[in-house]
Amino acid sequence: MPSDTEKSLREELVKCMKILHSRGLISGIGGNASARLPREGAILITPSGKFKGDLAPDDICKIDMEGRVLEGYVRPSIESPLHIAIYRSSPHINAVIHSHSPFTTGLALAGKKIEPVNYEAAVIFKEVPILDFRIPGSKELGELVAQNIKNRKAVILQNHGVVAVGATPLEALSIIESLEEVSIMIFVASHFGEVKLIPKDQI
Ligand code: 13P
Ligand code: ZN
Repeated sequence: MPSDTEKSLREELVKCMKILHSRGLISGIGGNASARLPREGAILITPSGKFKGDLAPDDICKIDMEGRVLEGYVRPSIESPLHIAIYRSSPHINAVIHSHSPFTTGLALAGKKIEPVNYEAAVIFKEVPILDFRIPGSKELGELVAQNIKNRKAVILQNHGVVAVGATPLEALSIIESLEEVSIMIFVASHFGEVKLIPKDQI
């Protein structure tokens, strides 16, 4: 019998993927999300290659910290090594979401950094690193992200997307949304001219 915590986390993961898809932050089969089940030392994670906009709570897989499937009828995300590497190296992180946010990823492709255009950008996204490309699903990608996300809320994966973390899946989702909002502001402002930043003495 799944605990109430597990049931509500499964629902929260489904909700996050639905929102990511409806907001254009992932395409049908892109992206993934997970949550830690601290009592069991297990992880709930989205399935691989399935349409992510309409998952059911039962589609979510349960894996252990070695990536072995404990429950679920479908293959867990190919990014399981990345999610596991983050949970192993950062005990304070309980949720991880990976998106393909087009504006955030697009700005990084053009070498543009996140600048303090609003308060979130100045405080939460101060120095969001753009990590060098590594093959999706690889152990190398997982290690690189785990090393760089420890004291941060998000990192950008060059030629790929974004990884955000939080205490809950909804918190990680908000980080992804907020980062994309900031990226759109920077994109729009750059189109018309110079980007006006918050004065340094106001941060
Ligand atoms: P999965 O469907 O296996 O989670 O892969 C999606 C993805 O975005 C890989 O980086
Ligand atoms: Zn991806």
